[in-house]
Amino acid sequence: MSNKTLAIIKPDAVRKNLVGQIITKITEAGFTIKGLRMIHLSTDSAKAFYEVHKERPFYNELVEFMTSGPCVPIALEKENAVADYRKLIGATDPAQAEEGTIRKLYADSKAENAVHGSDSDENAIIEIAHFFSRNDLV
Ligand code: ATP
Ligand code: MG
Repeated sequence: MSNKTLAIIKPDAVRKNLVGQIITKITEAGFTIKGLRMIHLSTDSAKAFYEVHKERPFYNELVEFMTSGPCVPIALEKENAVADYRKLIGATDPAQAEEGTIRKLYADSKAENAVHGSDSDENAIIEIAHFFSRNDLV
């Protein structure tokens, strides 16, 4: 079991000035920050990041949203990181997310849902490498 996951505070949450509150939720849940940056994704970079979804009907909308403003990728470490972080953020659709989860608290819709989380240990490694080189990680 890996202990790494990639979080992204998405452009909607950055626009709403929620970066501090979301990071507090994450660290209070016991995650350690191993890397953090703010970046305005290019279309090519967002397309590559969400390559797995390229056949889905919402792919273009997703790429447009993720390039609509800066986002904050964060490399996180914790035992059972992938599952624990997904539990912390809640369901993709905030209407379905459990009380107290980050998406329930801060997300507006299924598309503009405040945060990203890796869905497997394998993808966590790939996704962290999308944003951070070895020297950027502590
Ligand atoms: P993420 O990968 O961002 O952590 P997730 O794993 O909960 O979210 P995915 O199924 O991987 O959900 O979808 C990736 C992202 O695509 C979602 O977070 C959301 O921003 C967007 N998305 C998913 N489903 C829809 C939809 N039906 N309509 C619009 N956007 C969607
Ligand atoms: Mg996903």
